[in-house]
Amino acid sequence: MAKKEKEKKTDASEFKEQLFMKRRNTGLAMSDSDIAKADKFCEDYKKFLDTGKTEREACAEAIRLAERSGFVPFDKNAQYKAGDRVYLCNRGKSVILAVIGKKPVENGVNLVAAHIDSPRIDLKQNPLYENEGIAYFKTHYYGGIKKYQWPVTPLALHGVIYKADGSRVDVKVGEDEGDPVLVITDILPHLADEQYKRPAPKLIQGEELNILIGSRPFRDDKASETVKLNIMKILNEKYGIVESDFISAELECVPAYKAKDVGFDRSMVGAYGQDDRVCAYTALSAILAIKGAPDKTAVTVLTDKEEIGSVGATGMSSFFFENTVAKMMTSLGKDSFSATRRCLANSSMLSSDVSAGYDPLYADVYEKRSSAFLSCGLAFNKFTGSRGKSGSNDANAEYVAKVRRIMDDANVSFQFCELGKVDVGGGGTIAYIMAKYCMNVIDSGVPVLSMHAPYEVSSKADVYEAYKGYRAFLINA
Ligand code: MN
Ligand code: MN
Repeated sequence: MAKKEKEKKTDASEFKEQLFMKRRNTGLAMSDSDIAKADKFCEDYKKFLDTGKTEREACAEAIRLAERSGFVPFDKNAQYKAGDRVYLCNRGKSVILAVIGKKPVENGVNLVAAHIDSPRIDLKQNPLYENEGIAYFKTHYYGGIKKYQWPVTPLALHGVIYKADGSRVDVKVGEDEGDPVLVITDILPHLADEQYKRPAPKLIQGEELNILIGSRPFRDDKASETVKLNIMKILNEKYGIVESDFISAELECVPAYKAKDVGFDRSMVGAYGQDDRVCAYTALSAILAIKGAPDKTAVTVLTDKEEIGSVGATGMSSFFFENTVAKMMTSLGKDSFSATRRCLANSSMLSSDVSAGYDPLYADVYEKRSSAFLSCGLAFNKFTGSRGKSGSNDANAEYVAKVRRIMDDANVSFQFCELGKVDVGGGGTIAYIMAKYCMNVIDSGVPVLSMHAPYEVSSKADVYEAYKGYRAFLINA
């Protein structure tokens, strides 16, 4: 028998070739033209990062790009047909984009969802004060930060202020070449003996994250708090605000620097807020790239508040997504609660969020066989969570098999991983929130170094593979 003949000839290396899993280095597997495509893609990605440093800005930029690509605001009175491109925005902080498919929406949608909020330093509602001739903003940090990473780095202030009359002022200071920046100070090493004795999580404490904003007193020095007065006067002249307007403001301090290439080989992107705007941008680009009408309706969701538990009206736990599906069903002539439920249960989702890139400098926290390596492609997490997968979605094997096949067919480099070693820590995503609709969900994303730091690093090869993977999923799932 021919088969037996073949077995005789097969040696260990050939068996190994057939049987062992290979981790594919995307960098090696990519052709020169693919590398050029990835580099080009990341030029636009860096622009997106610089333009959208807050959830509001990222949302607005996503909508601008979508409109350029033929998407129009969803109109509940319109009748939609396959190939139509629509979007719905929620309070300027989250957006759902859809390309209507040929099959009835009841059959489910292919959904990629990422978040556009990132860890940062928010101003309190009574932020402005003066202490010993120096003016500061009081802050309350947002999301899981290592607080000691945020002092002595130039910060920009982004956000909105609503005045007592309801009018809106947009704020963005620290981004333009001529702009001043803000900063949180730290103790000099010469006097840090006591500070060094603090455990790392308390090295800088929450109430010490006060932002330095001024030191020049108002000319008339007879009054008290003249530095604060001078600052308030400047803000009044520039924005027309008074101190009480901070009450109805959302002001966010983010690193003032721009996205840059990292490494002599320019293989990586360094920037603030890549968790999770790297998945947001790739998921957005993937839906914009769809031509004509896909089989199933393709949906990209860019959501807010993931970093603080997906809560609030603009977080994934709100009914925005469900309401949007219901609205779409209505405009497609399927106005019933059960049709909406059927659509949700028949849907397939990639919960798209960054994964911890394996960092050889801190190898102790990773389990190498299940780590997401830089430049090895889109990272899938079958489960997330902590302490025995607690809080995780844990995708069905049947669904994992389907997703694998889609990635293989589209020649996408991917890897299966988890965050770190068992019981070392953990984390969650929005996956479980959507899984409650009984839809298939799996976590996928780009591996990132220094996640949640003011400066995160990703691999351009992975960014491009994520885009390819999301596009393949939206069209073929
Ligand atoms: Mn994230
Ligand atoms: Mn995060």
